[in-house]
Amino acid sequence: MPDLKAEEKTDLKSLTLPEVREAMTRMGEKAFRGKQLYQWMHQKLAGDYEEMTNLPASLKEKCREKFWYCTLETVEVQVSKIDGTRKYLFALRDGNVVESVWMQYKHGNSVCISSQVGCRMGCRFCASTLDGLERNLTPSEMLEQIYAIQKDTGERVSNVVVMGTGEPLDNYDNLLRFLRLLTDENGLNLSQRNVTVSTCGLVPNMRRLADEKLQITLALSLHASNDEKRKKLMPIANRYTIRELMEACEYYFSKTGRRITFEYSLVGGVNDTDEDAAELTKLAEKHCVHVNLIPVNPIKERDYVQSETKRIQAFKNKLERNKINVTIRREMGRDIDGACGQLRRKHVSEEKRKSGSAGNTVAQP
Ligand code: SAH
Repeated sequence: MPDLKAEEKTDLKSLTLPEVREAMTRMGEKAFRGKQLYQWMHQKLAGDYEEMTNLPASLKEKCREKFWYCTLETVEVQVSKIDGTRKYLFALRDGNVVESVWMQYKHGNSVCISSQVGCRMGCRFCASTLDGLERNLTPSEMLEQIYAIQKDTGERVSNVVVMGTGEPLDNYDNLLRFLRLLTDENGLNLSQRNVTVSTCGLVPNMRRLADEKLQITLALSLHASNDEKRKKLMPIANRYTIRELMEACEYYFSKTGRRITFEYSLVGGVNDTDEDAAELTKLAEKHCVHVNLIPVNPIKERDYVQSETKRIQAFKNKLERNKINVTIRREMGRDIDGACGQLRRKHVSEEKRKSGSAGNTVAQP
């Protein structure tokens, strides 16, 4: 049994089905109770034990004593009048808050979740990292973001992207457990192909993930096509070179057959020139990837600006002329905007102002 404890109680929603079964038999219960309990949590999305109508009261009581049942409290929901995008701020049991986003596309509903409270990667243009890392999210806290949103909207979530606050590969074990639970046939049963994990490029864990042989999509936040430029935007580039990243991408593709996505946030005057496009073309050609261009979302703490629309289009055209598969990320919920992590930041700074406490420092990897 893994060590998944919260205040000395096992985190029930982070256990796999065999583990829940085992927990039941250890408590002197029949193993089939494990499956019932598991399906209540991960299929019927029960808010508490009370809803589990086919379980005996005595078992529910034992569960209450022994386990922590993860739920999130919705602090705020912002709804876009333009496209119905919903941005959620959830409170965790320790009072920390995380952001998640629900987006409707033609192909289904997509949820973007956070994997950590804060982040220690320090990317210059990113709001989520400004106060450093607070803590990792548990598998249950990652799942619960999706469950809470599915319950709130009443609509099935078909796609999940791990692109909110945090570096998922910096929370590797919890991420893996989350992925297995999310795609489990006795849970929400999402297709692995409909799950994307985005990383700033932690090479050893990209390789580890490849060895898990999952069918998920791996997105690499590249943002610059040479090391010098990348170092200016992303401190992690001091640790791993683009060459090492590309080798890890090749490895991922060879093990999983899944094409990698390069994410490239266009920052006005920094990485959006024709030379940048030419360099990116070379990398993308060589490694047969899909490129997703993201117009940078300026944060007030930094003076980066978005590339002009004309420039973004020219950059895209240049890639396309070279037969690179490229998209520009559609900006969802423009009216409820603020870059990722800013809703949480706003909330945290308001709370701090009230209590007069200071924040963390960013621990660079
Ligand atoms: N840590 C992961 C996932 C979180 S961020 C990663 O680095 O990939 C998801 C994507 O949004 C990343 O590509 C990230 O670099 C990008 N991003 C973060 N802040 C941004 C901003 N202000 N404007 C545009 N893209 C941003």
